[in-house]
Amino acid sequence: MIVMKFGGSSLASADKVRRCVGLVRRELARRPVVVVSAHGRTTNLLIEAARRALDGKVDLSAVERIHADLCRDLGVDFKVAEPLLAQLSAVLHGVSLLKELTPRTLDQVMSFGERMSTRIVASAMEAGGVAAAAVNAYDAGLLTDSNHGHAAPLPGIDDAIGRALCGMALVPVVTGFLGKDKKGDITTLGRSGSDFSASIVGAAIGAEEIQIWTDVNGVMTADPSVDPQARNLPVLSFTEASELAYYGAEVLHPNTLVPAIRKKIPVRVLNTLRPEDEGTVILAEPALGNRIAKSVVYKEDVCLINVTTERLMSAAKVLAAAIGILDARGVGVHLAATSEATVSMVTDRAYGDEELGPALEELGRHGAVAVERDLAILCVVGEEMRGRAGAAGKILTVLGETGVNARMISQSASELNVAVLVDNAAIEPAVKALHRMLLGS
Ligand code: ASP
Ligand code: MG
Repeated sequence: MIVMKFGGSSLASADKVRRCVGLVRRELARRPVVVVSAHGRTTNLLIEAARRALDGKVDLSAVERIHADLCRDLGVDFKVAEPLLAQLSAVLHGVSLLKELTPRTLDQVMSFGERMSTRIVASAMEAGGVAAAAVNAYDAGLLTDSNHGHAAPLPGIDDAIGRALCGMALVPVVTGFLGKDKKGDITTLGRSGSDFSASIVGAAIGAEEIQIWTDVNGVMTADPSVDPQARNLPVLSFTEASELAYYGAEVLHPNTLVPAIRKKIPVRVLNTLRPEDEGTVILAEPALGNRIAKSVVYKEDVCLINVTTERLMSAAKVLAAAIGILDARGVGVHLAATSEATVSMVTDRAYGDEELGPALEELGRHGAVAVERDLAILCVVGEEMRGRAGAAGKILTVLGETGVNARMISQSASELNVAVLVDNAAIEPAVKALHRMLLGS
């Protein structure tokens, strides 16, 4: 069996849906289980609709239009989605009356996107000659904790999911993104969580391969919008892929890979617009290429927080306290470095003054605090750098020759990545220079 997961943009129009149906048809012999996201930007529209309901306005027209148009263009009866839209409207009226939008209710609201897309895609498959049935993942045993908005699957659910899906005569079209907790409330796995669903389902059914179909190329040697020379990476290890995702490669949700790693199932990232391309396959074991490393990625708009202690206090203690303070205030730390007197931490995204305010005030008790913005983390990732002398040196030399100042440097002992903090403005020249070095190595 295989899992075929289609993302929202791959399902954004009737043509694209038909294309996906065609891809499923040619894999029928491998007994596919299909996992889908909501069509196009539906999840965003649902969140907006929920917020507007909170302000007293119930308006589902945008969501309705997308689904009605798709049904019409696909020749699918709109009745497959209509009852769900009616239910959604009732939920939103509840929100507008109660003037309350809890994370639990927001999960309910968001769930309608995937619940409609599974039905529409299954009908489109039927129309395309593929016998299919829509399945809510939670009805097939995808149980999670009750952490609404970021739920995690509960251990031990594989057997139930396997039993529900392996015996089906029709091709199951399963909701991505969704689960239910033990109380029976719908949960979501975090934005872009359908990849995670695909991996959970793949592990549960013991799939021979998990295919993640997107409408961009697989994982690349660099961001092609920064360097058009970027090429596809045919093979990556799970660890490299997780690092790349962590540093902002957009293709995969960082948690996606965990269930697949557990069962050593290859994950193949493919492009619906170029289905003959090999894509990128992500394997459990390290895959060494002959370049110095595999890819250069970046995360822009991060903040640097420096705490300089006046008192004689160990930097490790200050670092521990500082990370605790930031974490308690919801500020994620992506990189940290210490010197005798200064602790430097780089955030995981941009934070405004108001967001950082309370944390900075508390940090102030440990020393003088300074914040810098408009910075970016550049990161070179590759198993090839492990145990090899000089990789970090080459990276810094290239940056130096490009006139890019490295503000902070970090290489964890896994030696899989070298991360450098630079000005936002340096992203383009730095990525291009590092990428040139990679391709030329
Ligand atoms: N529809 C959800 C989202 O937009 C899940 C996904 O697309 O993977 O976040
Ligand atoms: Mg997605």
